[in-house]
Amino acid sequence: MELKQVSDNCFAVLNEKNRVCDANSGLINRAGGVVIDTQSDLAHARQMIEMFGKVWSAMPQRVINTHEDADHVWGNQLFEGAEIIAHQSIPERMKHVADPKESQKLLHGVGHFLSRLIIKALHPGIVAAGRQLLEDYNFDGIELALPTTLFDTRYELNLDGTEVHLIYVGPCHQVGDTIIHVPKERVVFAGDVLFRQCTPMGWTGSYEKWFQCLDLIIELDPEVIVAGHGPLCGIEGPIEMKAYLEYVRDESKKSFEEGLSSLNAAKRIEFGPYAEWRAPARLYMNVERAYREFRGEPPDAPWNMAATFDAIYEVAKARGIKVEY
Ligand SMILES: [Zn+2]
Repeated sequence: MELKQVSDNCFAVLNEKNRVCDANSGLINRAGGVVIDTQSDLAHARQMIEMFGKVWSAMPQRVINTHEDADHVWGNQLFEGAEIIAHQSIPERMKHVADPKESQKLLHGVGHFLSRLIIKALHPGIVAAGRQLLEDYNFDGIELALPTTLFDTRYELNLDGTEVHLIYVGPCHQVGDTIIHVPKERVVFAGDVLFRQCTPMGWTGSYEKWFQCLDLIIELDPEVIVAGHGPLCGIEGPIEMKAYLEYVRDESKKSFEEGLSSLNAAKRIEFGPYAEWRAPARLYMNVERAYREFRGEPPDAPWNMAATFDAIYEVAKARGIKVEY
């Protein structure tokens, strides 16, 4: 992890490995400070606090969660008594998608030799993902700390004259997707609406909505964007990600019309210039999302996690690349 100052009062803590769970956090260091997203486990959250602690005068009393995924909310509990601000959908969604018990059980099982053999026979993708997570994460001790201040479409903070705009843009990657714009400093904290130099994973929402949101970020004309995952960027970040999603949707359409399954399509579609991004086999999820749209399924159609991680595993194996999530 590294701390970067991105403007006069805005900072980021970046997770350089840029694999699943390696989320970034932000800090707007005005009027007592606002922390944006709180990391995937308590050790990473503590490290983030230590890094931001070099620039803030005290623990901030405000936290913003950009969406409901575990890797952005599991350090919330360390900000005791803080106001946690998020979209109104997030408390209920967190209980479903960020319940720490399942992940705790999974890592304990994968860490245990016999359980690992049993799980592997059924779900090689779950074992591979679990082993990767064990390299960096320990989900023990995590308890959900739910948002306390909720908003609908927009929420504004005034931090000693510096305006902060929370803009609801979901669902494109997840139900609660929110971007945070600091106009005076030309900074956007994008959450997982933006993945940088790693293959995007989207759970709930549509391609159209995602394109609209990336266009909105470009229109805001920020100088610096803090992505949910990956290094800092300017507007080339959303431009490149939109091009990736357009490419995948177009290629998926061709495969869909030929009658290929989404898994076989993901084994065949060229990675093109995106082969260098982390975890290219996560392409499967973007193909599957496109297929769901072609079949007229709703944007909140549920995912079978085990099947999804197995499919990514299969795509990587079929293409002879490293299995990475
Ligand atoms: Zn994330």
